[in-house]
Amino acid sequence: MRKMEVIKGSFAFEGIVTGEVFLDKKKYIDEGITAILDEKDVENEIERFERALELSKESLEDLRTSFAGKMNEHDLEIITAHMMILDDPIYVSDIKKSIKKDKLRAEEAVKLITTKYVKMFKNIQNPEYRQKELDIKDVGKRIVGNLDKRFEDWKKLDGKILVTEEIFPTELLNIYHLGIKIKGIVMEYGGETSHLAILAKALEIPTLMGIKNIFSYNWGKDIILDTTEINSCVIIEPDEKTKKEYENLLEKFELKKEEIKRDANLPTETLDGEKVSLYINVSGDLDSEEVRTLKPDGIGLLRTELLYMKNTSFPDEENQFKVYSGIVEKFDKDSSIIIRTLDIGADKQLPYFKMKNETNSFLGLRGIRFSLQNQDIFITQLKAILRAAYNRNVKIMYPMVTNISELREANKLLERAKEELKEENKLYKEEIEIGVMIEVPSIVMMADVFAQEVDFFSIGTNDLTQYILATDRLSETVSSMYDCYNPAVLRSIAFVKKAADLYGKKVSVCGEMAGDAKAIVAFLSMGIKDLSMVGTSILAARSLIRSLNYDKLKEIKEKLLLCHDSKEVKEILIKYIN
Ligand code: PEP
Ligand code: MG
Repeated sequence: MRKMEVIKGSFAFEGIVTGEVFLDKKKYIDEGITAILDEKDVENEIERFERALELSKESLEDLRTSFAGKMNEHDLEIITAHMMILDDPIYVSDIKKSIKKDKLRAEEAVKLITTKYVKMFKNIQNPEYRQKELDIKDVGKRIVGNLDKRFEDWKKLDGKILVTEEIFPTELLNIYHLGIKIKGIVMEYGGETSHLAILAKALEIPTLMGIKNIFSYNWGKDIILDTTEINSCVIIEPDEKTKKEYENLLEKFELKKEEIKRDANLPTETLDGEKVSLYINVSGDLDSEEVRTLKPDGIGLLRTELLYMKNTSFPDEENQFKVYSGIVEKFDKDSSIIIRTLDIGADKQLPYFKMKNETNSFLGLRGIRFSLQNQDIFITQLKAILRAAYNRNVKIMYPMVTNISELREANKLLERAKEELKEENKLYKEEIEIGVMIEVPSIVMMADVFAQEVDFFSIGTNDLTQYILATDRLSETVSSMYDCYNPAVLRSIAFVKKAADLYGKKVSVCGEMAGDAKAIVAFLSMGIKDLSMVGTSILAARSLIRSLNYDKLKEIKEKLLLCHDSKEVKEILIKYIN
């Protein structure tokens, strides 16, 4: 008899499912080239390719229509990106040339040219191009799928758990669109913050990522997929005892889901009546439906970069004013809305503005440093925010602040922006609250000084972790060191909170960590009661908070700060949640 095997991974969407495996081993892009065409077949192959190209466009259009209104517009932008590749004359003509010159069958020509493009993007050592690489692979797969009837295969996936090296976002949309219900996904690819992970969350498919050498396992027929935060694993050939345990776990998990639904409309407060504020992080557009169902207390972080990235040149004041006002108006008048000024540089680049190459771009010109060196761009943005803030509870936040002089200079430019608006007879908010992101060690150490000159702090744990631990947040080689539960990160946060308390200033957290159950317990223990997170985490966070006793939580603060490593930290927090 085979032995049970438990393989750990990271999760994109939480769930527990059991079922039959659908093993997708076929490689569509980088298979070897085999057939050589006769001259007489060339025209026929070109026609087949053109038909597949049209079918690919039609299927994308179908997807767009069927998901419009059901999914966030931002999540559907990927379809437009793929349409653009299908319409790219160079990509299309390269494939046709390859059919003609290399005498390849249409499938093979698509694979050959797509692989060439994929390699090209891979060789550009810039994380920004990882998405482009994935997009072109996805498009290539779609065309090949329409040539070799690959999509017929997907029908066999209904009700099963997909085990694969990598599945692409539009493939997943396509499968969903065909009415095929995937029970779960297990895959080798490990991008927890990738577009695919975001889609898996939106479509609510339990997904386990980062299983190295996925095809080296003997997957058998039935598996248990447990993508809950605490376990995050897949079990091959579960024994009877494990199966029984999972029947109970599943029951508990379903009960928890019911509880989350039930708590959705109740106040966010602990068992002993301590009020906690939950805000939403907004990166692109915001659906009114999300505001209605999730009931966030406001926006804790409005990232403005996407608005700049989507344009072909720097957006003007009017354009920005419209976008910011549109988002602000989705909330009640008193809701707190924090707009962060442009945080460009390092991994976030603008297609129309060439930045100097730097050896350490994360330590170079980014965030407020860029704005202070490009004052016209900064003042334009400040004017747009000040106008959208008129008669509203809108606040301004500066990213990546390192020295007090940066804060003072930014505030001087803010006064200049107000003067210009006054001269132009435009309505704007005169008394606006100003805050800084806590992302670098120097601001942690100087938090008491900053607290005397700002209205609030917001802790950006994504960058704070990177800079406190000197560990690149995008590097795959040191990814295991990038751990926000390292006690050094928690101590920094506690230190900042203490400094802010001295001057009665508010501290919130807006990094990804804020939506994580363990982190919520840690933050509440430190007295941080303002948390901003992605929309999909809000309801679970509310439900968790309603099950905690605030007064008792304080007891674990000292224990956490005395831990020697992140393992100890996590053990305390998990034990507490359980
Ligand atoms: C952070 O660094 O935690 C943060 C919220 O900013 P971003 O992820 O946009 O860098
Ligand atoms: Mg940041």
